[in-house]
Amino acid sequence: GKRAFVAGVADDNGFGWAIAKSLAAAGAEILVGTWVPALNIFETSLQRGKFDESRKLPDGSLMEITKIYPLDAVFDNPDDVPEDIKSNRRYAGSTNWTVQEVAESVKRDFGSIDILVHSLANGPEVSKPLLETSRNGYLAALSASSYSYVSLLKHFLPLMNPGGSSISLTHVASERIIPGYGGGMNSAKAALESDTRVLAFEAGRKHKIRVNTISAGPLRSRAAKAIGF
Ligand code: NAD
Repeated sequence: GKRAFVAGVADDNGFGWAIAKSLAAAGAEILVGTWVPALNIFETSLQRGKFDESRKLPDGSLMEITKIYPLDAVFDNPDDVPEDIKSNRRYAGSTNWTVQEVAESVKRDFGSIDILVHSLANGPEVSKPLLETSRNGYLAALSASSYSYVSLLKHFLPLMNPGGSSISLTHVASERIIPGYGGGMNSAKAALESDTRVLAFEAGRKHKIRVNTISAGPLRSRAAKAIGF
């Protein structure tokens, strides 16, 4: 069977959860990466059976998540983590959640994966029009929503089996004006799409890994509700 790592699952409403379910239904083993501040509530809800109804697969069995890794995809290694995050109450309880450390942990635990899914984005100023977006807000959107994918693929490639596949999720706002999708998120998705072409070229030649992005239609996920979509 195939093994998949799905980054960006913290409840049962988003694309990450739905993709994990489809992969599980097709027989894949599921590992997930959950944003550190959301980890506690996700694990607790899972343990308490809150997601049991939506864990149901077409054959009636429940999706099993073999392991949940804490992840913050805006940090590549411990040297990148600033003091205020290190000492933050919501981060202090977890360890090894930078991208490099998560890839190392997955390698140690399982050796290899076949499928890498990037289903995460964040734009702290998403509700501001581009004309009112600060430099920091813009760069944060790119860091969390675009470079996070470059970094994930870079660190997971060495443990991906040749013939494997990687996908991310993009948004039509990269090519058309969608008022409300601000804070540089349009730019972040445009970068993600351009990077997908370049990464497909590089990862395809070097490691025989396919790289694609899917421009998803609207879904009332937690992220979408937060920006009033
Ligand atoms: P979601 O809230 O279910 O997923 C986003 C996830 O990203 C959350 O679990 C959040 O905890 C995680 N996250 C945020 N910052 C992170 C970080 N620094 N490190 C690790 N994880 C982090 O919402 P969703 O809408 O399912 O989003 C998944 C993907 O789909 C995103 O790339 C989003 O842009 C894309 N998308 C969504 C829609 C839509 O209508 N919902 C449409 C097109 C594309």
